[in-house]
Amino acid sequence: MSQDCIFCKILRGDIPASLLYEDSDVIAFKDISPEAPTHILVIPRKHISGPAALTEEDKDLMGKLVKVGVDLAKEFGLSDGYRLVMNDGKRAGQTVFHLHMHLLGGRTMTWPPG
Ligand code: AMP
Ligand code: ZN
Repeated sequence: MSQDCIFCKILRGDIPASLLYEDSDVIAFKDISPEAPTHILVIPRKHISGPAALTEEDKDLMGKLVKVGVDLAKEFGLSDGYRLVMNDGKRAGQTVFHLHMHLLGGRTMTWPPG
């Protein structure tokens, strides 16, 4: 846990979030500023600053994170297509430095992303 990390604060219950899923390793909640009709963040309970900070020991955790995203996509009826996104670093648009995967769906996506 990191004292001033906003997602660690959500994990501690210090700030509210619309929780959609939780287990011993990951939680998922609604993005506060949605970029699509469905915009969910899936995060590990462990504070990891981003994809580049992952280690060998996080491999199972990451598999689980992706599976939770896929299951939520099903639950939210996104069978016609959705996007799972992780940003690493400021230049890629990362603004919260606690690893998170975006699940975006409910509209047509463009490629490449901006
Ligand atoms: P990124 O730009 O990839 O780092 O994504 C960070 C995401 O976190 C953005 O889409 C924000 O809208 C979202 N976000 C920031 N603060 C909160 C919060 N308190 N609750 C839910 N989502 C948040
Ligand atoms: Zn954190």
